[in-house]
Amino acid sequence: MSAATWVPGAAGSAYDVDHLPWGVFTHGDDTARVGVRIGDHVLDLAPVAAADMRPEAALFEAATLNPLMGQGRTVHAELRRWITDLLTVAEERSDVEPHLLAIDEVAMQMPVEVGDYVDFYASEHHASAVGTIFRPDQEPLLPNWKHLPVGYHGRAGTVVPSGTGIVRPMGQRKNPSDAAPVFGPSGRLDIEAELGFLAGTPSGLGERIAVGDFADHCFGVVGLNDWSARDIQGWEYVPLGPFLGKSFATSISTWVTPLAALDAAWVDLPGQDPAPLPYLAVDGPAGLDIDIEVVLNGHVVSRPPYRTMYWSPAQMLAHMSVNGASVRTGDLWASGTVSGPVREERGSFLELSWGWREPFSVGGEERVALEDGDEVVLRYTAPATGGGRLAIGEVTGTVLPARP
Ligand code: CA
Repeated sequence: MSAATWVPGAAGSAYDVDHLPWGVFTHGDDTARVGVRIGDHVLDLAPVAAADMRPEAALFEAATLNPLMGQGRTVHAELRRWITDLLTVAEERSDVEPHLLAIDEVAMQMPVEVGDYVDFYASEHHASAVGTIFRPDQEPLLPNWKHLPVGYHGRAGTVVPSGTGIVRPMGQRKNPSDAAPVFGPSGRLDIEAELGFLAGTPSGLGERIAVGDFADHCFGVVGLNDWSARDIQGWEYVPLGPFLGKSFATSISTWVTPLAALDAAWVDLPGQDPAPLPYLAVDGPAGLDIDIEVVLNGHVVSRPPYRTMYWSPAQMLAHMSVNGASVRTGDLWASGTVSGPVREERGSFLELSWGWREPFSVGGEERVALEDGDEVVLRYTAPATGGGRLAIGEVTGTVLPARP
């Protein structure tokens, strides 16, 4: 454990010096640039690095994290040591403190130019629940599910930062009892509480990323809400999978928690039976002990536990590159909805209301799906390396009326 930070209020907080999430911010009329969060402050890195004559100064003047993310694990570790020294060594304080900005004086921006976006389906409890709701007469899991992490390619251009309003999507839908499809605003707008992983070091076309090389390629972790229009999805998804019911918006946190900050969060997977093929074999703890809270209009409606996920993020990365598809800096892959085994751990309203049949209470109001004006906040915490818990960036979004 490193020495305590001198930044007022930061020691023991969810943004202590053992966390140091990266973000992109603006301050007044200044151009967007890179900072790290410490307590309730953002450290403006570019001027501090320039004063230290560090070669990385230009990385912090960028309007996205991508140039930094592509530098590789060794550089990231060195920068983490440097920033830790800045924030813990008393002699640094007089030079560094002028570049600490109060969190409420900056505007957080989209942190990453997202390359390709893949969304997985890695929770056995979620996949089983959805299978049971939609195919009650069949096995809940399809035959491939325990042999590979099922996923699809999503739409990178509509990945938006936390705080972006979500316009209720228009689209086609058709209930089984309807004679013909109709067009209009989605009536079954939903969330999916997920975790997102960002690629740092890229891979070349034709190469594969081994499960064991995950930490060399994963830069960090974001909170992620995969907004879903279930009625549009239900009509369109056969046979090629999710399309317009998903592509209208995916929200991510503006803070990116470095993978190194999660060193104390690794736990064993709940167990994989049958054993996966050798290219998906894991050695040691591969799951993450991350607690999630789903907050609707100020009320916690669910607490999905990430440690219950069947497939690990390293297996997801290995699988999405096993065919030789290259991975670029800024690529994003998401876990799929995180759901635990019991109702109060379900990570979507589809599951919380069990297929819209069992309304759930939100501060005295009943819900099965999202209404206009609803605000969703996803919060994430994990064990920190210095003890206590760190907070992975939260993801917020408010539902705006459709534009018919
Ligand atoms: Ca999803």
